[in-house]
Amino acid sequence: MRLLLATMSHETNTFSPVPTKLARFCRDGTTLLKGQAAKEFFRNTGTCMGGYLAVADGEGAEVVVPVCASAPPSGRVDSDAYETFCRLITDEVAKGGFDGIMLDLHGAMAAEEYDDGEGELLRRIRAIDAKTPLCVAYDMHANVYDNMIRNADIVAGYHTYPHVDMKETAVLAASALLRVIKGELKPTTAWGSAPMLPHVMAQGTHMFPNKDLQAMCAAWEASGRAVAASLFVGFPHADVPMAGLSAVVVTDNNPADAKAMVDELLEFAWKARENFVFEVERLEDSVARAKALGEQGPGVVLLDHFDNCASGGTMDTTDVLREIIRQELDDVVFFGIYDPEAVQQAMAAGIGQEIELEIGARLEMPELQVGSRPLRVAGRVRTVSAGYFKATGGLSPGLQIFMGNTVVLDTGRVQIVLLSRHIEPTAQEMLRILGIDPAMKKFVAIKSRVHWRADLGKIAREIVECGGVGVCTSNYGQLTFRRVRRPIYPLDPEMAWNVATT
Ligand SMILES: [Zn+2]
Repeated sequence: MRLLLATMSHETNTFSPVPTKLARFCRDGTTLLKGQAAKEFFRNTGTCMGGYLAVADGEGAEVVVPVCASAPPSGRVDSDAYETFCRLITDEVAKGGFDGIMLDLHGAMAAEEYDDGEGELLRRIRAIDAKTPLCVAYDMHANVYDNMIRNADIVAGYHTYPHVDMKETAVLAASALLRVIKGELKPTTAWGSAPMLPHVMAQGTHMFPNKDLQAMCAAWEASGRAVAASLFVGFPHADVPMAGLSAVVVTDNNPADAKAMVDELLEFAWKARENFVFEVERLEDSVARAKALGEQGPGVVLLDHFDNCASGGTMDTTDVLREIIRQELDDVVFFGIYDPEAVQQAMAAGIGQEIELEIGARLEMPELQVGSRPLRVAGRVRTVSAGYFKATGGLSPGLQIFMGNTVVLDTGRVQIVLLSRHIEPTAQEMLRILGIDPAMKKFVAIKSRVHWRADLGKIAREIVECGGVGVCTSNYGQLTFRRVRRPIYPLDPEMAWNVATT
């Protein structure tokens, strides 16, 4: 058996000013991962590619990997980058001779010229090769378009947020695809969307309603009623027509039942729409509340979630950090401020040196009605690190993580992590390699929303969600949507909708 495996993954925040050029998809800034190097990088990791490789290896299949391209969320993908990925994949498809194609796609990639990056890739593949069985594993944050579904035989989405089942999702998709290849399964797929933009902070699978929706999908898969059942909460920080929630169900030759399951998911989600709305308190109030909670000991986690780089945030707004300093919280680690220039300044000064510098707010946010300001801080350079480690748990166990040059600046009360790459704090290891034990800190302030729960969540005694500044603003009020389909909830809060209209 001969299989084509490829990754093209980017969650596009169309409001983000962070550019998304080809280099962002390259670990060393110049080289895309592919071929043998990609196989070695992902084999035995808790990733989609790790899952695909496990299934392919189990079959003794010959595997061809034209590209594994993924980058942290940011603005629309540069045309040159997008066309490069598509060409690498379609050129290989055009050579022919594959029994199956297994793709690891995000589902919310918007390129400069395409709102539906994944659908356009699949359309091009099918224009070359209409027949070879093809499966896709999508992220739960996919914004689904028809081309993403109709051009695949098997579609499967994650059931967890934080996404700790990426490997399992790919294994499910790949195993079903093997049955298609062997003629044991005749997949029929139904899909639909509900006009709603669930807020990311209300999407976690530790809570209602997404916990219940994902449990429905998992139960149908476990019973065999569905080959794959997926509820996509969607990615709301994308001003594209199909941003929002959708459901996709694949059955073994039972289209009516696939449609029934899709409708059940959409109806459940729509009825629970108010639970997908998230309100924040004023920043001064949340930091004051955190300060009071800190009097009882360590384990207070403050979430600076408006500026989460894993949703396209610049990771350099300073407002939450400024308020933490203003209210004189003590024994704080703040992860982190993306500021490659500040990292260089601190490295030039050297470990142990006292420095004073301006950090953050280097990236303008023209799509946002408010901005952030650089923060002047003085402190001692406590740690300088290359930011490299191999994950032992969390989101992607076994994966090599490269944070890039990283500095800890210690102001006395606050240890500020300065970063030169966009990386969401999710694992305790990210702090431990910097000489900080997060479990011992009274306050752990992080630019994260939900993924931190995968591992840093273990040290949380109290959680304080802080309103701040950033392109992942929580009430949508600071963003202007121009292209998303309307009406849509909660932008149009009084709207009516019924699943029968899908
Ligand atoms: Zn996601």
